[in-house]
Amino acid sequence: MQDKIQFDTAKKSPEVDSRQVRSAVEDKTVIQEVDQALADAVAAGASEVHFEPRMDGLSIRMRVQGSMSGIKDVSDRMKTNVINRLKVLSGMDITKSRIPQTGFFKVTVGDRKIELYVYVMPSIYGESLTVKVQYKQSATMHLDQLGMSPSSLAAYRKALGRSSGLYLVTGPPGSGKRTTIYASILEVLKPDMLAMGFDPVIKYEIPGMVQGKPEDRSEYTFAEGIRALVQQEPDVAYIGDILNEQEARATIHGAFAKRKVFARMTANDSINAVQNLVDMGTQPFLVAASLAAVLNQRLIPRLCTSCRDPYPADEAIQKELGLKLPENARFYKAGGCEACDNTGYSGVVGIFELFLPSEELNKMIVAKEQVQALRQRAVREGMSFLKVDGVLKAMAGYCTLEEVLNAL
Ligand SMILES: [Zn+2]
Repeated sequence: MQDKIQFDTAKKSPEVDSRQVRSAVEDKTVIQEVDQALADAVAAGASEVHFEPRMDGLSIRMRVQGSMSGIKDVSDRMKTNVINRLKVLSGMDITKSRIPQTGFFKVTVGDRKIELYVYVMPSIYGESLTVKVQYKQSATMHLDQLGMSPSSLAAYRKALGRSSGLYLVTGPPGSGKRTTIYASILEVLKPDMLAMGFDPVIKYEIPGMVQGKPEDRSEYTFAEGIRALVQQEPDVAYIGDILNEQEARATIHGAFAKRKVFARMTANDSINAVQNLVDMGTQPFLVAASLAAVLNQRLIPRLCTSCRDPYPADEAIQKELGLKLPENARFYKAGGCEACDNTGYSGVVGIFELFLPSEELNKMIVAKEQVQALRQRAVREGMSFLKVDGVLKAMAGYCTLEEVLNAL
């Protein structure tokens, strides 16, 4: 039995002037079609729902764990009304159908709160609409569950023990940066502290933390939000993704006044992230004074332990990797069994690289030394790169070597 969908904040479109369109999208059948499609998608744990216009109707499909599958097809007669219903719900202008638009609404299914981000793009057979589904959860992920090596975890925990500083988590989109940040905040947050966060997507709600997000079409922008947050003097702050110079500056200044600041950055490498901060216009001495840690990470598909298949890490592989591996080192291939639905995989595993600026590295940052020089120095100080962590996890059978190398 499926839970019924309840719409929490169905915003009204501000510029609807056609009463005919309005009554059409409020038609019971149309509402049912939309509700049912969304309920089916949520029940299946879909990450996206696609409403794709075809010559003779509308195809509704969803993406579950990376693969697309059909939900249902809607007749040509109802095609436009279904799209318009979703545009009304997400606060878009339904009088405009020839421009891309974005919108947002929330639903409650059972006791689950779900945020839906809606994107519409005109196409030859009508508007194509995508709903990205964001399931909100209470943050219960702990640092020691992320899969960091014991030595990295201990070093990161030590860095978190500082009274203030900037903690950057880097990686491409979808690499689990938010999860790591929430787990870090859970680790440092004490009842006598004020914690505030600001992020366009709130993936988890953290008990005891005030969380805000920018609003479309209002003055509550990202930069305004960050400024407002810093003015409220939190002890622990989370400021989303660092996008541009102005925001980066606000972040760094915020990190000074006896607080811990957590932020995400889309960067491939922890030392490049340091360089990015400087390139964004942050004074190198501010970076050196405030940067506590940079954690660079990737998420890799986790091999099913029941059917993974070992093979020896021969000379050729070691030569290609440029690493000398221990005697009898092995890697693993994906198999397929009942436990993993014949996919060979089950869940994900994180691989990490932790950059901790030492006194010497900070001097080099202030002196604007090249990324390459910083990297060499960090290695001499014992920093372990993402590739090494990935190869170790592949040898331990968590993931395939190929997937590690693809993710770097
Ligand atoms: Zn299996």
